[in-house]
Amino acid sequence: MRQLTFIKPGVFEWHDVRAPVLQNGAQALVRPLAVTRCDLDLYIATGVFPMPGPFAFGHEIAGEVIDVGEDVVTVVPGDRVIVPFQISCGTCRMCQRGLTNACLSVPPYSAYGLAPSSGTDWGGGLSDCILVPFADAMLVKLPEGLSLVSAAAMSDNAVDGYRTVAAPLLEYPGTDVLVVGGLAQSVGLYAVKAALALGAGRVVYRDFDARRLAVAQSMGADTIETVYARDMSVTEQFAITVDAAGIPDALSFVLKSTAPCGICTGVSAGSGTVAEVPLRQMYMKGITYTVSRVHARTGIKDIIDCGLCHDLHAHGIVDATRPFSEAADAMAEGNTKTVFLAE
Ligand SMILES: [Zn+2]
Ligand SMILES: [Zn+2]
Repeated sequence: MRQLTFIKPGVFEWHDVRAPVLQNGAQALVRPLAVTRCDLDLYIATGVFPMPGPFAFGHEIAGEVIDVGEDVVTVVPGDRVIVPFQISCGTCRMCQRGLTNACLSVPPYSAYGLAPSSGTDWGGGLSDCILVPFADAMLVKLPEGLSLVSAAAMSDNAVDGYRTVAAPLLEYPGTDVLVVGGLAQSVGLYAVKAALALGAGRVVYRDFDARRLAVAQSMGADTIETVYARDMSVTEQFAITVDAAGIPDALSFVLKSTAPCGICTGVSAGSGTVAEVPLRQMYMKGITYTVSRVHARTGIKDIIDCGLCHDLHAHGIVDATRPFSEAADAMAEGNTKTVFLAE
């Protein structure tokens, strides 16, 4: 079968590889039909985030089940499914708590399309077939009427944005939310979308990018064009804040903009450093700062249950559509989010 392989920044190749086969009764084979470009993929493709090739690429996946093992009970061939990007067993003590990002049954950071993270090749979404090792625990059937485009992004980035505001809004219903956007391009916009849909008060979106600001504004956010810099003046306090910028100065700013007893969630580690953590302010105000990868499988279920999934891709978060065959060239394009569709 064909498989898109990342070689090095700027270089992808389609390789002919052996198609996966079922190895036990708990597994399924899925044919990817729609694969969205994760925000991280752009930076791997361009070398901003170094990852050693070669490895199979693509991890935000929606597709069709083509075969299942004898023990699988939740899906049958022909079902359209969302495939969470992280591999999770559903039965270990971490999965049982919903912490599917930390599954104990597989090497840490096991995921599709990111083999160097875990040291294990789980295949990639931009291929003719992927093996799903724990089909009942991982696969989620597409709800009626949900587009493949929305479904694919729910594998990772859409759920990542959702979780930054969903739990905090339960604690502070109707409150104002600040999202600081930037390098996690689509995650920040999905956070805006989720905050508005979940009944936040005013949603303020800051970014330096005019295109993303326009998308956030079209959703109903108050937008403020912002160049992140040291010692930015803090003008407002928000009980819920989100760092999707991945830029040290932006993190300092968003922490200082978090109101007493507020909750700040970071969706990336940015450059791996921070310019300044305002620890004394955070201590005095009692700020909760969470920085974590998303628990994808758990979040997919949550986002479907709340009904938000149906127009996640509206307002142009996904702003380019390409066939699989153009993925090698299109992966490094500078748009916000691309969906690749199987031909
Ligand atoms: Zn991702
Ligand atoms: Zn597990």
